[in-house]
Amino acid sequence: MMKTVSLEKYRSKRDFHVTPEPKGARPPRRKRLSYVVQKHMARNLHYDFRLEWNGVLLSWAVPKGPSLDPSVKRLAMHVEDHPVEYGSFEGVIPAGEYGGGTVMLWDRGTWEPEAEDADEAFRKGDLKFELHGEKLKGSWVLVRTHLGWLLIKHRDEYASKQDILKAEPRSVVSGRLLLDIARENGGDVAKAAKGDPV
Ligand code: MN
Repeated sequence: MMKTVSLEKYRSKRDFHVTPEPKGARPPRRKRLSYVVQKHMARNLHYDFRLEWNGVLLSWAVPKGPSLDPSVKRLAMHVEDHPVEYGSFEGVIPAGEYGGGTVMLWDRGTWEPEAEDADEAFRKGDLKFELHGEKLKGSWVLVRTHLGWLLIKHRDEYASKQDILKAEPRSVVSGRLLLDIARENGGDVAKAAKGDPV
């Protein structure tokens, strides 16, 4: 691979107050990849964990939701890809429709794969990544085992014994609980309320 010399050297040789030559902007940042968790009270309560990749949201349904405790492994059922725009959906899916129930945007932000080749990491079933969410942060892994995929927090400054699901039960975009979302969108309020902490 060709070795590049830093733009610093190019710049150090020039006085940009005097010369009309371009100073050169920072290299464009790689587009940030979105991350979202949707708390979904359907037939059963679960948390849909989604990572934007190759123009879609890779998706896992996590029945017990994510845990900040690195000793806790949460089963994550790999489900079909979703469109990227799905990551901004909060509301009610009508009863009788696929996934009928109440959906809350529980967390959102961006993510970065740790491996150089994330496609390969995903294929191999060992996807390590960094989350920059409002609730979930730091290093995590989705690992495929004989039980299926597991979602696990790595040890770092964001690891904790705190039950984040109980401590932060509200929507990250609207501050609403599931029952509020159901009530305001014609959903099943009593059912939705079962997903909120008592
Ligand atoms: Mn779901």
